Amino acid sequence: MTIRTILEYPDPRLNLPSQPVTRFDADLNSLVDDLLETLYSTSAIALSAPQIDDRSAVLVIDLSEDRSTPKVYINPQILAKSTWGFVEESCLSVPDIVGNVIRATEVRAQWQDREGRVIEDDLSGMDAVCLQHEMDHLAGKLFIDRLSIFRRLSIRARQAARSRSLRKSA
Ligand code: ZN
Repeated sequence: MTIRTILEYPDPRLNLPSQPVTRFDADLNSLVDDLLETLYSTSAIALSAPQIDDRSAVLVIDLSEDRSTPKVYINPQILAKSTWGFVEESCLSVPDIVGNVIRATEVRAQWQDREGRVIEDDLSGMDAVCLQHEMDHLAGKLFIDRLSIFRRLSIRARQAARSRSLRKSA
């Protein structure tokens, strides 16, 4: 298991779509292990493969206090959404930004586990919201893409100022 580097906005690799997983093998298992180890090296609750520069449709979520309940979603699909609401989100790939996004708080989803078994279940609350946030990553989207144009422009300006000051201090 390896802690991998997390790509940060505006890295263009975050905009590339993922490909479905077709081989449930040792490579997939080591990707899942790396995702979990990288997630657990942060205070975040979810992480997707594109964020560690891998194009596989894989994401992990662990909402437990003691980081003991990893959930692994491979080739996830959302079959139905209901009960929409505003959710305050942040993202390891967009440091220091928090924004309100409209999400379904109840979803019916289908995915595969590490062995390739197909699972279908209802998810609600944070499970549903995290799944949608991470599935956006698989589609090459970030949560800030769902904010208003004004908020996006201010984030872009802030990011540009940030990289200018990083260059100055380097
Ligand atoms: Zn994210």
